[in-house]
Amino acid sequence: MRKRLGLIYGGKSAEHEVSLSTARAVTQAVNFDQYEVIPVYITYDGEWRKGEALEKPAETIEELRLAKDGSRPDSIHDFLKGGTAEFDVVFPLLHGTNGEDGTVQGLFEVMNIPYVGNGVLASSAGMDKVVMKQLFAQAGLKQVPYVHFIRSGWATEKERLVEQMEKELGWPVFVKPANLGSSVGISKATDRESLIEAVEMALKFDRKVIVEQGVDAREIEMGVMGNDEPACSVAGEIKPVAAFYDYEAKYADGNTALVIPAEVNQQVLDTMKDTAIRAYKVLDCSGLVRADFFVTAENEVLINEVNTMPGFTPTSMFPLLWQKTGVAYPELIEKLIGLAMERHEEKQ
Ligand code: ATP
Ligand code: MG
Ligand code: MG
Ligand code: MG
Repeated sequence: MRKRLGLIYGGKSAEHEVSLSTARAVTQAVNFDQYEVIPVYITYDGEWRKGEALEKPAETIEELRLAKDGSRPDSIHDFLKGGTAEFDVVFPLLHGTNGEDGTVQGLFEVMNIPYVGNGVLASSAGMDKVVMKQLFAQAGLKQVPYVHFIRSGWATEKERLVEQMEKELGWPVFVKPANLGSSVGISKATDRESLIEAVEMALKFDRKVIVEQGVDAREIEMGVMGNDEPACSVAGEIKPVAAFYDYEAKYADGNTALVIPAEVNQQVLDTMKDTAIRAYKVLDCSGLVRADFFVTAENEVLINEVNTMPGFTPTSMFPLLWQKTGVAYPELIEKLIGLAMERHEEKQ
């Protein structure tokens, strides 16, 4: 019997299009002899549409946009359970808000459906860069200094916050919406004027903003996979052509060079591995993460973030890292589904 695999993608998120690319890539890698792949598209408005089981991999992302022809649920319960258990396992290929942040994970928990990737706590803590950094600090992990505030705080205390940032951080700074990914809403500011502009922009995406000290460093990433005993992939370096690894560089121009494995010495590698595993544990991760680091010219290793549902497009770092580690794309998907099942069974 083939397992019924629900692919959940799209979503009410700034990373909607990225999710569609990921979904297409996953349909191309999944073994159709083993899985009945059921596409579930979440529209920009947050409506869920279920399509017929796929007969073959999706060639274009347009095929996966079920906005008009997918069936709409009368109730989320019927949609997911549909009489007999509808899905044996679901793969939420969602990035950012409402997908990578624990909300959809909570839905699957309540519905008692195994799902790929991190649980509720790790997803939400990993999505909020402020909470994540606070937990990293508690685990003693090295990271850049930062200042954070919410929209209403900015409205009432702008002057004080700007002064605090000027005092505690050095130029340039990176201004980010606290809860997002794919570099959406992020900008680099080099002075007071561009800082204020960057904050106003970031506040359009989120009520919480984080401003970090900018570092001039190499960007090196590592994949982590597992439940109670996570393992690390080889490291990979990003060499962006753009000013920084922005949204365009990630998904559009394809010009960013990924060097895998990264050329780093053993000590840096060991520190990265140790840090990645500690980060994984302090957030109580399961399934997978991609851990992003800055490595300075003095070989200091700073953790930037973990991504609890990293991109899976053909040019994405996470699958490429595992490929170099000896886990090919189809096997990677199989492993992640296995980890989802394992976690689910442990809870029963
Ligand atoms: P993703 O989830 O896709 O990795 P994100 O939206 O979570 O991205 P970050 O990884 O935090 O964002 O930042 C995006 C990019 O901006 C980094 O890859 C890096 O190029 C640059 N950047 C971010 N923070 C800093 C910093 N403190 N110093 C220097 N560069 C930075
Ligand atoms: Mg991120
Ligand atoms: Mg992300
Ligand atoms: Mg990142």
